[in-house]
Amino acid sequence: MIAIVGAGPGGLFAAHELARHGETVHVYDVGQDVSARRWEDPFDLLHGMGGAGTFSDGKINYHPQIGGDLHAFMTREDAWALMADVEGLFQRYDVEVIPTDKESTHVLERRAAQQGVRFLPIRQAHVGSDHLTALIRRFGDDLRAAGVTFHFGVRVENVAVGDGRVRGLVLEGGETVPADEVILAPGRVGSEWMRHTAESHGLTIYFNPVDIGVRVEVPSMVMEEVIAVSYDPKFYVRTPTYDDRVRTFCVSPLGYVAKEVYREEGAVGVNGHSLRDEKSSNTNFALLTSVNLTEPVESTTAYGISIARLATTIGGGRPILQSLGDLRRHRRSTWGRLEKSPGDVVPTLTDVTPGDISMALPHRIVTDLLEALELLAGVIPGLDADRTLLYALELKRYATRPKTDRHLQTEVQGLYVAGDGAGVARGIAGAAATGLIAARGILASHGAGPAEPGRPG
Ligand SMILES: Cc1cc2nc3c(=O)[nH]c(=O)nc-3n(C[C@H](O)[C@H](O)[C@H](O)COP(=O)(O)OP(=O)(O)OC[C@H]3O[C@@H](n4cnc5c(N)ncnc54)[C@H](O)[C@@H]3O)c2cc1C
Repeated sequence: MIAIVGAGPGGLFAAHELARHGETVHVYDVGQDVSARRWEDPFDLLHGMGGAGTFSDGKINYHPQIGGDLHAFMTREDAWALMADVEGLFQRYDVEVIPTDKESTHVLERRAAQQGVRFLPIRQAHVGSDHLTALIRRFGDDLRAAGVTFHFGVRVENVAVGDGRVRGLVLEGGETVPADEVILAPGRVGSEWMRHTAESHGLTIYFNPVDIGVRVEVPSMVMEEVIAVSYDPKFYVRTPTYDDRVRTFCVSPLGYVAKEVYREEGAVGVNGHSLRDEKSSNTNFALLTSVNLTEPVESTTAYGISIARLATTIGGGRPILQSLGDLRRHRRSTWGRLEKSPGDVVPTLTDVTPGDISMALPHRIVTDLLEALELLAGVIPGLDADRTLLYALELKRYATRPKTDRHLQTEVQGLYVAGDGAGVARGIAGAAATGLIAARGILASHGAGPAEPGRPG
């Protein structure tokens, strides 16, 4: 029996691959089945069927180096082939790639290059938060029909290990479920759990960088031209003062900014999403700078969380909202000042505290963000207008990557990892791809398929 922890894209894609090869698969998730949840619910730490992906926008980036780096495990060619497999499975659920125009893509690439900005064209699909639930329900039904057993509302406490080999799962309450192989795919929400679990078995752990920044919101017209070229445009900037890398992430055209609660850490942040059937008049995206720490502190997660807590304190328990004009003038925003804004950009998230982002974020990060906005405005005119809204904090944690081989098997034999919680993915497609790597690793160890990572059996 193969036990999978987490019913997010990592766990579900692994379950699909294993079940279609006749393996007995049990998936454990502390959250609920999809039918018990609605996309309108506030973002919560308990995800369930579909994982964090259910609450997401369903923007899927089919690129081996977006949302993770598959080149770390396999050749460039195999990584693209694996991405094609992920795309193929989504296609079966009617998720189609957004067509792009070669000529206008090239024009945007050139315009960005002339400003010292890198634009990375990517094959993308968009499901929409409101349609994602139906897709996940269908996927879940098909997995059940293929023999996968789901256990919802069950928290896994640890893995059982004996003689250097995984033996099963230890559930909340102490029950041990025997398993021949285990895949841990607990998502970002389970990344601390993953670290504790790995530490409790003496596994080697590496820290990944943490991404810290703001969510930027502008009238949709400002972004219209670039979104016509790419639905979720990826721009990369090197900032002049600190030579840091800043990137755009999760662009939500005609979308909404949303509050994200880090309940266990006592902090709040922001995220964004677009709906297919309901539109705002704004577009938002995350603007993030990567922070990597070495001596004496390596825990980027602890650093990110302490900044999130500070931002939450300054915001009185809510995310902070500030106009770019106020940030530049070194003054806090107030509802009065925001309402006077000439461009009339009405915030899509109002459960916020107008305030001063520079009270919450380190100077280096604020400098990075201001410089990046200025450079990006060379590609997207109007982006650096005074009325542009900034919400803090946007935090992306990818910490705690247990040491693995190229099949994502840890130092414990039979114990595999996948997805965001293991620090090997940062998005739906990446999580799905790493789920496939782990599943195919198990299949290869059963003699079903090539020993090369990620290759289908
Ligand atoms: C608001 C929001 C918007 C997003 N938008 C996008 C987007 O547009 N495009 C994109 O590519 N990505 C997006 N993402 C990220 C995407 O959802 C994740 O990258 C993806 O879901 C990661 O998949 P995963 O399988 O690794 O983990 P998850 O999807 O997080 O699933 C992990 C599951 O494990 C369960 N779990 C954790 N610990 C335990 C335990 N101890 N016992 C039992 N169960 C446990 C959790 O309940 C959860 O259901 C978004 C995320 C959020 C929150």
